[in-house]
Amino acid sequence: MIPTTFEELALAAPLKRALAEQNYTTPSPIQAQSIPILLEGRDLLGIAQTGTGKTAAFSLPILNALHQESKHPQRRSARVLVLTPTRELASQISQSFETYGKGIRFSKTLIFGGVGKNPQIRAMKNGVDVLVACPGRLLDHMNEGDVDLSGVEFFVLDEVDRMLDMGFLRDVKKIVAALPAKKQSLFFSATLAPSIKDLANRILHEPAHVSIEPKRTTAEKVDQRVCFLDKDHKKELLLQHLEAQRGHGLTIIFSRTKHGANKLCKSINSAGFESEAIHGNRSQPQRERTLEKFKAGRLPILVATDVAARGVDVKDVTLVINLDIPNEAEAYVHRIGRTGRADASGSAVSYCSPEEHEFYMDIEKLIKKKLPVDLDHPYHHEELAELHSRGLKARESTRDNGGNKGGGRRGGGGRGRNGGGSSRNNSSRNNTQSQARGRVSDGSTGRRRRR
Ligand code: AMP
Repeated sequence: MIPTTFEELALAAPLKRALAEQNYTTPSPIQAQSIPILLEGRDLLGIAQTGTGKTAAFSLPILNALHQESKHPQRRSARVLVLTPTRELASQISQSFETYGKGIRFSKTLIFGGVGKNPQIRAMKNGVDVLVACPGRLLDHMNEGDVDLSGVEFFVLDEVDRMLDMGFLRDVKKIVAALPAKKQSLFFSATLAPSIKDLANRILHEPAHVSIEPKRTTAEKVDQRVCFLDKDHKKELLLQHLEAQRGHGLTIIFSRTKHGANKLCKSINSAGFESEAIHGNRSQPQRERTLEKFKAGRLPILVATDVAARGVDVKDVTLVINLDIPNEAEAYVHRIGRTGRADASGSAVSYCSPEEHEFYMDIEKLIKKKLPVDLDHPYHHEELAELHSRGLKARESTRDNGGNKGGGRRGGGGRGRNGGGSSRNNSSRNNTQSQARGRVSDGSTGRRRRR
């Protein structure tokens, strides 16, 4: 039987308390499948990516073993060795051991390159319970006699596919050769290419296999679409989208400039919405206050510049609006990654005017797909959509057409949802927000403007 709660797992009470503190109630699939196997002392081959909860899947049973049998680690050695490819991963894993092992007495240290060796040598002198390390620097220490792996009881090889991509195979093999024969080994990789299988066969002894379907990436979870329109109509369309979004979760609007973000806030607030901006010109405490309000759901709309939004991790963002198209295609991916966090799904809508069309084409090239064109608004720019579907840049066509900006229709909106001749499907009509927006359009056929 696969456990459905952490209570059902044979983990020590302090571990269960730490999980409750983290508000974890249900083991993720990799945890539910791996933890019972690992508690039995078996080797494990896990096919799983970051984001599946694999860190807890291996650290909980290991911490449980350290709790059950506490003893002095050997000098210059570790009872647990976790090998991972990057410093960031090493730090995260170490942090997870600390979080989950809060109620357990154990020592740990980190070893990676790019920082001084001496503190690492000192930390290893009397041995540690848990050593989280990257291969290159660990091998240096071993070669210099500062680390000895003969006391390892648990060996975790994490993100093996990345490790091999980064050229660590030889280092890993040398490290593995220095480990004692008797130990419990855990091996995690996102894929199982032949070279990875070979390595697993060398290391693992009659392992249990656990394979977790890759999670959908953020970009796959986010329902993305583009609105082609003249830049003069962006504000009006924005107000319609915000109206449709009322009561449906949090919205982030991206603006390219700080000045633009401020102006936008003022104008949407004067139209009866509640928004605040975060950007480089606001002080850190101001930004933090705004973010706190947003996270707590007391502020429905956040207006942000790209830089300010880095690292904003808010679970309930259901809509990202790109008021303008970022010049750098990568920024688009960061922007839409602000929605669809954790298991949630979200929508992202981008407003593209003829002037920005070239940047928009770069985005579709980067994400390797054509996004559905939203026809469900009164400002649809048919000519631009048409050019886009033919793979032509608006600017090229401007030259061809003797200077008519983008060859586009200018002036009034009001073409309505049926006016577009785009051959694309609008898949976004199926989602709630689009339905809400659809109702707004129905009522007005695009002619009633919010002011
Ligand atoms: P990992 O794949 O280990 O990097 O974990 C991904 C994220 O999921 C981390 O932020 C963990 O804190 C979180 N997490 C791990 N296990 C659980 C769980 N059972 N319930 C909720 N969140 C979890």
